[in-house]
Amino acid sequence: MIFKSAKINAFRTWGLLLTMLGMGLMVLGTAGIVFWGHAGKVFAAVGLVIGLIAMMASLAIYFWAGMLSTSAVQVDCPECGKLTKMLGKTDRCMFCHTILTLDPNQANTTSSQLKAHSTPPSPSDTDHGMSSNS
Ligand SMILES: [Zn+2]
Repeated sequence: MIFKSAKINAFRTWGLLLTMLGMGLMVLGTAGIVFWGHAGKVFAAVGLVIGLIAMMASLAIYFWAGMLSTSAVQVDCPECGKLTKMLGKTDRCMFCHTILTLDPNQANTTSSQLKAHSTPPSPSDTDHGMSSNS
């Protein structure tokens, strides 16, 4: 489901996962001292270092996502009508996961066609659809 969400949401999910992982490792490392005494100290040190790195990485991802979201384009999703943010020319809606695009060459459905048939094109095809590059 992570790869099927909007890019900004995916970044947030990964940031959250890394934070949880880092915190979990740090807690486990500390628990290692409690359970194994001296022998656990090496385990604790490794856990703390890896946990710290994971937390730093998650911080970087959050920061990056924040930078990206300032340059994201706000659009009204034609499917669900909510205001969503797009990264790049093609991204998924944050709410209904419909693929949206700003590039008319990649869009295989125009808005008038969308109104005629209310069903969207199948999302899996539009990702790689390098349709007709001269
Ligand atoms: Zn939508």
